Amino acid sequence: MKADCPECSSPVPLSADVQPTEIVVCPGCAADLEIVAVEPVLLALAPEVEEDWGE
Ligand SMILES: [Zn+2]
Repeated sequence: MKADCPECSSPVPLSADVQPTEIVVCPGCAADLEIVAVEPVLLALAPEVEEDWGE
């Protein structure tokens, strides 16, 4: 299971039981990526500071 990094388009390997809100690190650019959906897998850049997105 893998998905493309939204930052550099590298394939990012994911565990089969990956869960939404999980954070993975792109092997291509080392960006922190958040799993925002799993069917299909969708990755988004994780906030750099904290997990509080604010409003
Ligand atoms: Zn990347």
